[in-house]
Amino acid sequence: MNTELPILPATRAFLARKLKMRIGAEWQDAASGQTMTFRNPATGEVLGEVPSAQAQDVDRAVQAARQAFDDSAWSRMRPRERQNLLWRLADLMERDAQQLAELECLNNGKSAVVAKVMDVQLAIDFLRYMAGWATKIEGSTVEPSMPLMPEGDFHAFVRREAVGVVGAIVAWNFPLLLACWKLGPALATGCTMVLKPADETPLSVLKLAELVDEAGYPTGVLNVVTGTGLNAGAALSRHPGVDKLTFTGSTEVGKLIGKAAMDNMTRVTLELGGKSPTIVMPDANLQEAAAGAAMAIFFNQGQVCCAGSRLYVHRKHFDNVVADIAGIANGMKLGNGLDPSVQMGPLISAKQQDRVTGYINLGRELGATLACGGEGFGPGYFVKPTVLVDVDQRHRLVQEEIFGPVLVAMPFDDLDEVVRLANDNPYGLGASIWSNDLAAVHRMIPRIKSGSVWVNCHSALDPALPFGGYKMSGVGREMGAAAIEHYTELKAVMMKL
Ligand code: NAD
Repeated sequence: MNTELPILPATRAFLARKLKMRIGAEWQDAASGQTMTFRNPATGEVLGEVPSAQAQDVDRAVQAARQAFDDSAWSRMRPRERQNLLWRLADLMERDAQQLAELECLNNGKSAVVAKVMDVQLAIDFLRYMAGWATKIEGSTVEPSMPLMPEGDFHAFVRREAVGVVGAIVAWNFPLLLACWKLGPALATGCTMVLKPADETPLSVLKLAELVDEAGYPTGVLNVVTGTGLNAGAALSRHPGVDKLTFTGSTEVGKLIGKAAMDNMTRVTLELGGKSPTIVMPDANLQEAAAGAAMAIFFNQGQVCCAGSRLYVHRKHFDNVVADIAGIANGMKLGNGLDPSVQMGPLISAKQQDRVTGYINLGRELGATLACGGEGFGPGYFVKPTVLVDVDQRHRLVQEEIFGPVLVAMPFDDLDEVVRLANDNPYGLGASIWSNDLAAVHRMIPRIKSGSVWVNCHSALDPALPFGGYKMSGVGREMGAAAIEHYTELKAVMMKL
């Protein structure tokens, strides 16, 4: 690996190893022997290779997860022990936080400093939050009426049980964090898992599998298959041995996974794309709103499902707020995320760079004006933070998810109009309102069609709050108590005494 910037010897050693998948008790190659490469987005160089799993590898992983669920010490483990193991895993991640952050930086392009305090720390916090749930999974008792058997005495109760083998498929934008959002509730409830990281970003998830091992989880509780979406992902989503599918990625692929799930009646939750509005009301603190709106779109290079990618500013402040955001964008330092002074890294791939610059060019063709940015550059897959004005609500730029550092900004005149514009989009993941007018804010919150609404902040997620989408942004919720519901089944028990 060729980098002039310092990384830990442990990170260098991890990269120098022949990386394998984790299936059952073994680190394994694909049965076919096929491999696939992954790159460092900051340089475009190949960083390493991993096995490219095919259907038969996925099948072995599902069998290992099934065996662990049905027959191992795991299935007999008490909630308190599941809690302690999750806590132990979080401790190990804390010990190796710098290495995890460096792997995330090298493989995804994001800043290592930010990865450590955001991706890794949020994953640790989330696992500890979920550890608490292991001992709080409850059923209920019911007083039955039983009109058809008036003579008997009955005792009725509802058990909440682990759903079983979970197939998890995640995107590349927060490789470790997204995996932990799925692993946490699975391990808290007693499920087992086959996890497929994104094609581009296997590194931190393979390191996570090592830590799961070190924490002392029984064999087969977590299996990791590396491979393409078309092979490994598709095989996992249509596998009849999977009891629940959980997916984070694009709406397009989410629909395929949802359909595959229904063929087997597999439980399914889908965390999909977004085109979230940032709304700056006339009374807002404009400086805070501009800084917040810039963060909402430029954090993680705009590769955030709930990024504030549509900006609506009250007409009287529109020019000023846009100028402030453009100023922030123009001042951002772009570069290799291993450099602690860098504020924006590259996009994940050449394909994503082409997609994002393609949208910017489309905007120009449709008559939009650049307030800043507008170009991609290399080596590596960089795109300058970009703001486009003179866009129309019906433009593809305003309606479609770009998934890069591109903001489209539009003025509005009153509350009803901005609510209509905010909702005029196929997605419904998040929305932020920048205002201190309590009456206006409370009038807007119930009318905004999205899974999260933030007031005077954006993308502010918490382990205890459900996260997920309305409309094309998905089905189900992650985090909070809602996640526990999605990883459990209800069993009604009626006993005649
Ligand atoms: P993607 O849908 O292309 O890929 C996501 C995962 O699905 C990858 O692991 C990929 O290998 C796999 N996959 C691809 N084709 C598949 C198939 N036919 N069958 C099964 N699996 C398949 O998405 P992406 O480009 O990696 O990620 C970006 C998308 O993810 C954006 O739309 C973004 O908004 C969304 N996302 C959503 C959330 C959320 O919580 N709502 C979080 C992060 C990202």
